[in-house]
Amino acid sequence: MDKVSGMTHSLMPDVLVIGAGAAGLAATVALSGAGARVSLLERKPFAGGRAYSYIHPALGEVIDSQHVLLGCCTNLVDLCRLSGASEHIRWYDSITFLEPSQADASPRRSEIKAGMLPAPAHNALSFLRAPMLSLADKSRIALGLLRFLHGYPTEDDEPFSAWLKRTGQTELAIRHFWEPIVVGTLNDTFERCSTRYAGQVFHESFLRSAAGGRFGIPSQPLSEFYGQVARWAEQQGARLSYRAGVESIEVLSSGLWQAVVSDGAGGVIRHTAPNLVLALPFEQTARLLAALPEDSPQRRSILPLLSRFTHSPITTIHLWLDREVTDLDHAALLDTRIQWMFNKTRIRSLESTSRSPETRQGPVGSHYIELVISASHAELGQRPEQILHSATEELAKFFPKFCQAEVLKSAVLKEVRATFSVTPGLDRFRPRSEAPGGNLFLAGDWTQSGWPATMEGAVRSGRLAAEAVARATGNTANFLVPGLPPAGCMKWL
Ligand SMILES: Cc1cc2nc3c(=O)[nH]c(=O)nc-3n(C[C@H](O)[C@H](O)[C@H](O)COP(=O)(O)OP(=O)(O)OC[C@H]3O[C@@H](n4cnc5c(N)ncnc54)[C@H](O)[C@@H]3O)c2cc1C
Repeated sequence: MDKVSGMTHSLMPDVLVIGAGAAGLAATVALSGAGARVSLLERKPFAGGRAYSYIHPALGEVIDSQHVLLGCCTNLVDLCRLSGASEHIRWYDSITFLEPSQADASPRRSEIKAGMLPAPAHNALSFLRAPMLSLADKSRIALGLLRFLHGYPTEDDEPFSAWLKRTGQTELAIRHFWEPIVVGTLNDTFERCSTRYAGQVFHESFLRSAAGGRFGIPSQPLSEFYGQVARWAEQQGARLSYRAGVESIEVLSSGLWQAVVSDGAGGVIRHTAPNLVLALPFEQTARLLAALPEDSPQRRSILPLLSRFTHSPITTIHLWLDREVTDLDHAALLDTRIQWMFNKTRIRSLESTSRSPETRQGPVGSHYIELVISASHAELGQRPEQILHSATEELAKFFPKFCQAEVLKSAVLKEVRATFSVTPGLDRFRPRSEAPGGNLFLAGDWTQSGWPATMEGAVRSGRLAAEAVARATGNTANFLVPGLPPAGCMKWL
């Protein structure tokens, strides 16, 4: 790869990156790997951004909000491969959907998994067998999926709710198929998700290839997982500073960018570089841009766009039980508020031999499970005890053994600003990586990454910003890796 260099004085970095989430890490790894001197400033004491884990102070347990990836997340997978983090991803070829028990029937399982048929029909046999849907629902879904066979809309104006109506989806097809997948991946209601991104999810993960739909779960707590990416960046020569929250940015008369960080003792530390990458959530980007002079081109062009973005929350419920209540590692739970169950003891058991004391797993013999409520707008106004109560009531309907189990510890985690919503029409406000006015670059899942609010979107944005930095220095380095090729009959479609 061409070197991205030739820009600096002896001690000054070529590039300052602010924010060590997936986007900032991806930009830092790309640029430092290509020979640029990079300094990365992060407000928190760890890397990973919103994909983080921490020791819950009251429980003394390491918790995180489970993040999953799919095989089609090629840039994230590539970043993990480079840094060695990929050894800590568990891959699954099937997703189990559970229906709750009814008065006269126990919970029912449907499993969607790739079989022998070539793409796009690889899931067809398991789909046809799935008892959660009737034949009429399945034929509606199949007709709907056919619309995403060749791709997905390039325009993002149509809400997915309108598409469901337009394609005559049945009530059960919506509840048992479209909803768990769309709300789980795009984290908002159908009205607030565009058909473009819903279509992308189904095209990439359901139709294009079996590999694209593989379901990956980090088996380490997330800060450990992304810690490996951060260490890889450092091994390539990047300098990472934690607890370095940037208070303001400005352009000096020399044309250099300066970021001002409080030193925690009443003073400030100034970092300067010819290029600045803001790899922050949109609201933090807005805060720093608002400190620039009113007539600065970066502020004038980017700031007005940011008011178009909105957040959507995710709530997770963490339970330590005195016994195992399911042999499943994960499952989609239908007809409930708690949409996904992750069996963290099983998922993390891959790590048990190399476990550090900080990542212990609850009282001896206990079983840790996590329940996820995506788009949890309703839960924001509820007390943790209320959420816990209704979640455990619902859980018993899926896992009868739960009725005998004792809850040893529990926690409810509300992430109010979990993701930005891919609301219809938002694409035209998602900025590209180059900000006008010179040497300021934007990254973050919310920028024009071509993906919704995901780790893959964040990594893509970081790599795109790195490419833009390279271009600004007359270099043509490419950091983005392509998506998975179509498989089976999709090659001819
Ligand atoms: C509960 C939850 C569940 C999720 N589940 C999934 C999932 O299953 N799959 C998936 O793909 N995605 C998931 N996501 C979304 C995913 O976490 C994000 O899309 C992705 O991590 C965004 O990365 P980013 O680098 O763009 O931003 P961030 O991760 O927000 O990183 C920004 C970084 O900037 C730092 N920062 C902010 N301000 C400053 C400042 N002034 N100075 C210095 N540093 C600063 C922050 O501390 C942070 O580290 C989930 C998110 C949440 C919250």
